[in-house]
Amino acid sequence: MNGQWTCPHCNSQNCRHHKTYQTGHNGTRLLWRCQSCNRLFSETKATLIEGLRKPTSFIIQVLKTRTEGIGLNAACRAFAIAKNTLLLWERRLADYKDVLIIYALTHTFIEQLIEGDELYTKVNRNVPPEDCEGWTIVLMERASRFIWALQCGKKDRSLFSYAIQILRDVILRTGDVTLVTDGERRYGNLLFEICHEVLRTGKRGRPPKVLRRGVKVRLKNKGKGTDRTGHSRPKYETPHPEHPETDQDVTPADIHANHLEASNASFRRKNSAYRRRTNTYAKSISGLQRTLDMLWIVHNFIRSHFTTKQVPAVALGILQQGLSWDEVLRVRQPRLYKY
Ligand SMILES: [Zn+2]
Repeated sequence: MNGQWTCPHCNSQNCRHHKTYQTGHNGTRLLWRCQSCNRLFSETKATLIEGLRKPTSFIIQVLKTRTEGIGLNAACRAFAIAKNTLLLWERRLADYKDVLIIYALTHTFIEQLIEGDELYTKVNRNVPPEDCEGWTIVLMERASRFIWALQCGKKDRSLFSYAIQILRDVILRTGDVTLVTDGERRYGNLLFEICHEVLRTGKRGRPPKVLRRGVKVRLKNKGKGTDRTGHSRPKYETPHPEHPETDQDVTPADIHANHLEASNASFRRKNSAYRRRTNTYAKSISGLQRTLDMLWIVHNFIRSHFTTKQVPAVALGILQQGLSWDEVLRVRQPRLYKY
């Protein structure tokens, strides 16, 4: 991640202090001069707080409150700020997700067990659930509680393929990946489509397709433990053929422990758009995704998880310590800079 000394215009790291200047509410700030392109830039250039006059501590307080589950309008009333002001702050924060996901995927991992689940929320009233866009896919790594995907939309192929693209990126960086899903077959099917290999066995006939080496999918069976003939059914399925060299080390207990259910309850608490029977239904899918992106950042990089007592990004091994709100607001993201 870029430090304050990188020139936002030409990316040169050869920059010197030029002078300090006074701000209305945020004390003094540094002005830098790039020695390569000779342009000046402020220490807040291309950060989330560039050009914002409100005190940084106030902005943090408002954004924190929003990710604790207060609705957009309620937050605007409580803090006496205009809706467009808060929307600007939120969009800037949400955009930081792209930088962080790229950062996370620069690491390599030995093993990950990822749970897939879906949450339902009402986006528009009076449409049947299958037409409603308010499905959210959650892909969470179990041991660290790191959430790889938190994506909403209509419950269709494009939503699942978005989540599976992320999963494929994770698989490319990880030696051994197990995906556990709760009855929903589309994750496994899509994953098989984009993540299989053809097994050359040397035997005659068409060689079989198997999941990439190191990748396993387990589908939990819901309902009764017996089939129609009264025989007991396994409690989970292996829906796709797996590579013979993949370690088969997941136990039924591994498959059935579910940490997402508790997490889902906490998402509902922390994202006002998920609470039903109130007037804070997400007005549009992009609004819901913006709040989910903020939650993704806070959950993965800032807050300690209530059970592991660790920030998920730290538990996953990609950060030494969690980020502070102040760091998040001050980090430079020139590549994404567009305001
Ligand atoms: Zn420069």
